Amino acid sequence: MIRSTVARVDLDALKRNFVAIRQHLSSEAGQAPPAVIGVVKANAYGHGAPRIALALEEAGATMLACADIEEGIVLRQAGVRVPILVFGALSVSDLDGLFEFSLTPTISSPGAARAVQTAAERHRSSIGYHLKIDTGMNRLGFRHDNLGRTLPELLGSPSLKLEGVYTHFASADMPESPLFHDQRQRFEEAWRVVQALVSASSVRTSKSGPPVIRHACNSAALLRDSRVWFDAVRPGLLLYGIVPPPLATTIELTPVMSLTSRVVAVKGLRPGEGVGYGWRYQASEPRTVAVVPAGYADGVDTRLCGRGHVLIRGHRVPIVGAISMDMLTVDVTSLLEVRPGDEVVLLGSQGQESWQRIDAREMAAAIGTIPWEIVCRLGTRIERQYD
Ligand SMILES: *Cc1c(COP(=O)(O)O)cnc(C)c1O
Repeated sequence: MIRSTVARVDLDALKRNFVAIRQHLSSEAGQAPPAVIGVVKANAYGHGAPRIALALEEAGATMLACADIEEGIVLRQAGVRVPILVFGALSVSDLDGLFEFSLTPTISSPGAARAVQTAAERHRSSIGYHLKIDTGMNRLGFRHDNLGRTLPELLGSPSLKLEGVYTHFASADMPESPLFHDQRQRFEEAWRVVQALVSASSVRTSKSGPPVIRHACNSAALLRDSRVWFDAVRPGLLLYGIVPPPLATTIELTPVMSLTSRVVAVKGLRPGEGVGYGWRYQASEPRTVAVVPAGYADGVDTRLCGRGHVLIRGHRVPIVGAISMDMLTVDVTSLLEVRPGDEVVLLGSQGQESWQRIDAREMAAAIGTIPWEIVCRLGTRIERQYD
């Protein structure tokens, strides 16, 4: 049995997006193309992490990234074999999962370094890590301006192996913001300091291994400036076929997720009558509304009332009345005929014309939020169908 509201996840589109991004990254002459770290945190932005991760691995991703150890374990249990970078802070986590599931932690503070060091000793093993530098986000990471004081202990650790150095941009999607360039310069300077500290400490510990990689780009930064591609990039949104607003790109991307449902009832409203909780919509003339079994429990944002649209029979029709927990209503008066069973597209397309498509970016813009939120919040009750 399957509910009428389903999310279709097009794994071929995902793989094509991955390849298109990689092609774009090899376009810069005289620069070795960076590796692509596929970001699959938050259940792969609502798309379902296990299937997305395996498809990215198949497409050639050499590393994936998630938010915390628990997400990393889910990926390993799904059969992911490539290295998995955990972005989040580890200060209050149970660290055993890092060793048992061979995950790569981010070390973003001296305290986290000591905790991972202690856990490594307990597991009698060593572990590779990525070092996070805070260049201006002021969230996680070693401050860029006092690394000489905070890093030597970590870099001298016998059981912690530095494999990557990274930072995260706070305003890559704000073309006017000068912070982006400040962060880029701070990161380059931090890299020089790290290299100097590493060579100083390797004289003592004679550590050697594969070259340490540098990475900084989320989707927006990747689109914005090839100077910050470094050795690897970390797109999330672009992989799922969504371009971070307000940016544009020539990379050919297809939205990976579509969300469809079916009309379950059709109702006539007489003049003066309203529909749903609080009669948020009231008819001044005879109207026809269709009931769709998708509500805020499915992740449909309540602000779409009076602002969003869906597609039925190839036409755009407005969402009217309050979004309830399990259903919403749309005004179908303009359509000649609507019947229970008709397909309703909330995200996706229903025809070839550009107006016959609703994407996460449009839906986000209609309610003043960001497209990440639209896909991430898709409810757990909705089945993801993979094709
Ligand atoms: C989420 C995240 C990304 C990916 O961001 P997008 O904007 O979705 O491309 C990259 N790096 C870090 C550290 C992140 O947390």
